Amino acid sequence: MLDLTYEAPKPKVIAGATGDWELVIGLEVHAQVATAAKLFSGASTLFGAEPNSNVAFVDAGMPGMLPVINEGCVAQAVRTGLGLKAQINLRSAFDRKNYFYPDLPQGYQISQLYHPIVGEGEVIVDMAPGIARRVRIERIHLEQDAGKSIHDMDPTMSFVDLNRTGVALMEIVSRPDIRGPEEAAAYVLKLRQIMRYLGTCDGNMQNGNLRADVNVSVCRPGDYERYQETQDFSHLGTRCEIKNMNSMRFIQLAIDHEARRQIAILEDGGAIVQETRLYDVEKGETRSMRSKEEAHDYRYFPDPDLLPLEIEQGWVDDIEASLPELPDAKKARFVSAFGLSEYDASVLTAEAENAAYFEEVARGNDGKLAANWVINELFGRLKKEGHDITESPVTPAQLGGIVQLITKGDISGKIAKDLFEIVYTEGGDPAEIVEARGMRQVTDTGAIEAAVDDVIAANPAQVEKAQANPKLAGWFVGQVMKATGGKANPAAVNALVMAKLGL
Ligand code: ADP
Ligand code: MG
Repeated sequence: MLDLTYEAPKPKVIAGATGDWELVIGLEVHAQVATAAKLFSGASTLFGAEPNSNVAFVDAGMPGMLPVINEGCVAQAVRTGLGLKAQINLRSAFDRKNYFYPDLPQGYQISQLYHPIVGEGEVIVDMAPGIARRVRIERIHLEQDAGKSIHDMDPTMSFVDLNRTGVALMEIVSRPDIRGPEEAAAYVLKLRQIMRYLGTCDGNMQNGNLRADVNVSVCRPGDYERYQETQDFSHLGTRCEIKNMNSMRFIQLAIDHEARRQIAILEDGGAIVQETRLYDVEKGETRSMRSKEEAHDYRYFPDPDLLPLEIEQGWVDDIEASLPELPDAKKARFVSAFGLSEYDASVLTAEAENAAYFEEVARGNDGKLAANWVINELFGRLKKEGHDITESPVTPAQLGGIVQLITKGDISGKIAKDLFEIVYTEGGDPAEIVEARGMRQVTDTGAIEAAVDDVIAANPAQVEKAQANPKLAGWFVGQVMKATGGKANPAAVNALVMAKLGL
C-alpha cells in the first residue's frame, strides 16, 4: 500500500478582532443514481429529453398510482456504500417527507429518514502527495429528486418540467469532519471519482447530477477537539446550510464567504440563526432562503405504499464481488508496480478510462517512460484540443509502439515527438512509419563518425575553444545531431565528439 500520512483535517483559521476562529463543515451530497429508469417508475432518466416526455403517472402524482421500487437503484446505492467501506443495512424503509413543490406533484418526497440503506463509512481525501484525510460518512439514503420549475421563459408564467421528478438520488451525508474550503472541494472530487469508478453516478456537475448542500459553522480553537472527544454537538457553533452547490469553485467561495459572515455577526455580539441559505454567484455572497425546518415540520411518516426494503447478504456479497479496483488501490498499485511518483499515479488514475489506457501503453514497456508519454504528450495534446481520452485519435497500441521504438533505441526522443505528431494527425503503425520515412536512429558508428569528422574539420576555431573549455563540447553534439536530422544516437555522438576532441 501507499505510505500515506493520515493527517487530522486541518482547520482553516480566520483571525477575528476577538481572536481566531476555525471552520467546521459537513456536506450533504446529492448524487443522481446512474440507472435507466426512475426510483419508483419505469420512466426514463435520460437528460435533455423534451420537457415532460419522461413522466409516468406515478411521477405526476396521479391519485391511486402506486410506486414500485426499481431494483437497479437499490443495487447502485449498495454498490456506492460498499465503495465507501460503509455498513450496508439489510433492512431499510421509506418515509414521506411532506412539502409542496410544483415540481413534485405528489406533495411529498419519498426518502429514508429513519432507516437509511447505508450506514457509516469513510472517504479518504487526497490533499497533496503523501497526505490524506479521513472524512466519516454518516449515512447514505435513497430518495426522489424533484422536477424543474422554469421561471425565465415567459414574463407572466412559470413552467414545470417533470422529467427529473422521481429520478433516484443518493444523499451522502458526511460528519462535520471537513475543516476548510479546499478540503470540501477535495472531498466532493474524491466522492465523484469513486462513484464514477463504480459507475453509480455520472458526476456531471453542470447537468446537476451531483450537487452539494454545504453546512458551515465556526468555532474557537479547541472546541472541535472537544466535540471529537465527546461527539457532543453543543461544542460546535450553530450551522447554516448553503443549498444546491454544483461547482467546486463556488463551493469554496461560498464557504469562505459564509464563515466570514458568521464571524462578523458573532464578533458583533449577535447569534447565528440556523437557516438555509443560497449562494449568489454574481454577488459572491450567501443570502437567507428560509429558516431551517426541523424533521417534525415535514410530518415524516413511513410510506404506507412501500413495504420495508429487505435485501439479502448474498445479494450484497455478489455486488461486492463485482466491484472494480477503486482509485486508492489503483494508485497504490501504479506506484509499486510501475515505479511511478504518487503525483503521476494520481493523474493517471483520476478517471478509470485514463488508467486503463495507461496500463495498455505500459504493457511490455517501461512504466515510467509510458507514464511520461501518456501524461505529457498525449494528455497535454488532448487537453489543448478539449478532448478526453475516449476521443483520442492515438490508440494505446499505437502509443505503446512509439514507446517501444524509443526503448529499443530505434528512434531518439526528439524523433519520437515528430512520430507522435504524425500518428496523432495521420494515424498509422509507428514502426512502419519509421521505416517508410527513414526516421530510424543512426547507431552505425561509421556514419556518425563521418558526421563528427565533418563538423570538427569545418570549425577549427570552435575546436580550440572546446579544448580549452570542455563544457563547450556540447555545441559539437548539437551540430552533429542537426547534420543527421536528429537521427543520430545522442549517446554515441557524445562519446565520439569527446574522443575526437581528445577530452
Ligand atoms: P439536517 O437533516 O437537519 O440537515 P443533519 O444532522 O442530517 O441535519 O446534518 C446535516 C449536515 O450538517 C451533516 O453533513 C453534518 O455533518 C453537518 N453538521 C452538523 N452540525 C454541524 C456544525 N455544527 N457545523 C457544520 N456542519 C454541521
Ligand atoms: Mg439536511
